[in-house]
Amino acid sequence: MTLTQLKIGKITRAVTLGALLLWGLATVGCSKSNKHKGAVQTLFVHGDPMELVSGATFNPQVPFTAREIPNLGDYSLVSATQLTEKGELVKSNAQDRNLEAENAPTKSSDRLEKVIPFAFKKTANNLWAFASSEFTIEFQERNDGSLQAQRVFTSKESHPVEAIHYSATPGLQMFSMLVVGRDEKLGKVMLVAYWLRQGSQVSLAQGNKSYNYTWGPGVLVPWDNRQEVTVNICGSSTQQYADLIREAFLDWNHALASRLKVNVQVAASYPPFSDLNFHCTQMINNFLIEHDQNVAFPGMTLNIPNRATGYIQDSDIFLWASEFAKYKVDIRNPRMAERFMRIARHEFGHLLGLDHMFDGTESIMSYNNREHVMIYNYDRQAIRELYPLIGTAR
Ligand SMILES: [Zn+2]
Repeated sequence: MTLTQLKIGKITRAVTLGALLLWGLATVGCSKSNKHKGAVQTLFVHGDPMELVSGATFNPQVPFTAREIPNLGDYSLVSATQLTEKGELVKSNAQDRNLEAENAPTKSSDRLEKVIPFAFKKTANNLWAFASSEFTIEFQERNDGSLQAQRVFTSKESHPVEAIHYSATPGLQMFSMLVVGRDEKLGKVMLVAYWLRQGSQVSLAQGNKSYNYTWGPGVLVPWDNRQEVTVNICGSSTQQYADLIREAFLDWNHALASRLKVNVQVAASYPPFSDLNFHCTQMINNFLIEHDQNVAFPGMTLNIPNRATGYIQDSDIFLWASEFAKYKVDIRNPRMAERFMRIARHEFGHLLGLDHMFDGTESIMSYNNREHVMIYNYDRQAIRELYPLIGTAR
C-alpha cells in the first residue's frame, strides 16, 4: 500500500495534461504526476471546479490601480494550476501503474529555476495586457482607475474570464489571482496563478541533502517561525473531522517542540485557497481527482513559497471526499478514522515543508509498500533541521 495514493484494484484514469512544475508549484505530494512540461499545470477533475472554493468569501478587487502599474515593475509567474471540469480518459490497469514514479519529487533545479516573466503593457486607451510568452491577461481600466480582468489569451486562443479573488503580500511583492472561465472541450476551467516581483529573490539556505524537502533535497524553505502559523479548518463539511485533524497535528507539535507554533482552528469564514495570507484544510465534495476506482488519491497539499522572504507563504490542504468514498468504509469506523489521520499527518508533513521518501526510510512521507502511520525518527530529524530552535541562525 502506498500512502496517500493507494491502489485498490484497476480501471480507467484521467490524463494529466502537459504541465510544468514552476518553481513554486508544489502540489506536493500526492499529486498524480510530476513530469510537467509546458506552462501551466492542469489537473483534470470530474466535477465543477467551484467545489474547491465552496463556502469561501471572495475579494474580486484587483489589488493595484492603473495609476500604480508604472511603479510596480515586472513580475515572474511563480506557479499556475488549471482545474478543469472535463478531460480525456484512458484505460489503464492499476497493476501496471507505478505510483512511486508518479509521485516522485521533482529535481530542485526544476523547481527553482523555471519562472516565466510577465510585464504590463498598455494596449489601448483603456486596456492593459499583463503579458508573457505563455499566456496574457487583459485588464480593462475603468474611469476611476480601477481594473477588471476580462480575457485570457494563449498563443492559440482567448477566453472571456471572471476573476473571483485576488490576494497580495505587503508592498505587492507577491499577488495571486483566481479566475474562472469556460472552454468548449474542458468545460468549466479554474486558473489559480501566483506572481512574484522580479529582482526580489533571496538565496535559500541549504541543509542536509538526505532530508527531502518540498523544493528539493536539503533546500530549506520553512515557515517563518518568528510568528505563529494558523491552519484553518474550512467549510461546514470539514468541521465534522475537526477533532481528527487536530489530533493528527499533535504529533507534529511534539516533533516541532516549540520550534514553530502552529494553531489549528475552525474558521468561521475564509477566502479561497488561492489567498496568500490564509491557510485552509478543507474536505472537498463532489469532485473526483483520480478516475481509477481502484486507486485512491485522498489528499493534496498546495505549497507556495515566497522567494522574497525565503519562507513558505501559503499552504492549503485538500482532502477529497470522493476519494475517501472509494474505501466504502464510514469514517466513524475506527480503521477508517486511523486512515484519515494518517493522511492528515502526511499532508501536514507537506504543509510544514517535507516531500516524499522513496528509499524505504520509515517516514510518514514514505511511498512504499508498507503502511506508515506514525511520525518516525526521520520525520523528527528532518523537521528539526528545517526549523532550528527559535533565535538560532538558519
Ligand atoms: Zn504526499
